[in-house]
Amino acid sequence: MTNSFTPARIGLGLFKVPAESTQALVEDALDVGYRHFDCASNYGNETQLGAALSSSGLDRSSFTVTSKAWLDELGSTGIQDALKRSLDRLGLDSVDIYMIHWPAPERDLYVASFREMLLLRQEGLIKNVGVSNFHIDYLERLRREIGSLPVLNQVERHPYLQQRELFKYHSEHGIASQAWGPLARGEILADSRLANLAGRVGASTAQLVLAWQLSSSVSVIPKASSRKRLLENLSSTNLLLPEEVLREMREFDRDYRTGPNPADKN
Ligand code: NDP
Repeated sequence: MTNSFTPARIGLGLFKVPAESTQALVEDALDVGYRHFDCASNYGNETQLGAALSSSGLDRSSFTVTSKAWLDELGSTGIQDALKRSLDRLGLDSVDIYMIHWPAPERDLYVASFREMLLLRQEGLIKNVGVSNFHIDYLERLRREIGSLPVLNQVERHPYLQQRELFKYHSEHGIASQAWGPLARGEILADSRLANLAGRVGASTAQLVLAWQLSSSVSVIPKASSRKRLLENLSSTNLLLPEEVLREMREFDRDYRTGPNPADKN
């Protein structure tokens, strides 16, 4: 199966954005040009995201929204109900990308959940079926047992965790790669070698790292709390990095995770 889905190159991540500041932040983001928003049932701010989208007056086709089902929402009935609750909170008829947030392999419910999501797509409630935090063996199980793969896999990815083997698998199977924690949750900002490289290309460290992600067709969803940072991150889409900088970026890979290994999150 080939996948013709192309996600927005950059979106705004909403994890840990307090519900009371979400509407204003999304309004700012819309104002400076963001059109993709990454949310989830367990972020607790879908209602406020929906309110900002609705008050923008933008046509439904001009923005995209991701939501995700949490661990305790997995299973064929669970995921149906979870999606409906999310749509209700968002005030939308459909979500552009819906994901299994974590595979939770010990619960053994991701295959049944994925099968149900394909049906929900047929009903028009989901436009694209995605997953998050899936290792290759979980993707292979979907392929084997359902004969279908997600259009996108959103995983932790930054200079310290470059995900080369997984992304090779993605490109061989038409799965779009999306980076969560694209700035390693802010940790890369304290790296003087990265700051040095950024200086060489006349960019901030955040811009360097986001442009590096985009250079390999990985879409990014950085979270930022100020208009200044929203703009700074957005402008990384115009930064082209020279080959030698891209080569040097490979040296930062050290299999370092800011979050759990998906195998252990159950
Ligand atoms: P990020 O890598 O996006 O880092 C966010 C941190 O970087 C914040 O502290 C932010 O500060 C800071 N920051 C952002 N831009 C700049 C800048 N230009 N200069 C300096 N500091 C900056 O981490 P997240 O964990 O938030 O990941 C992004 C998104 O990915 C989440 O919001 C969520 O949508 C998604 N996600 C998905 C997961 C999954 O399991 N599928 C897991 C975790 C995240 P400040 O906010 O103060 O501006």
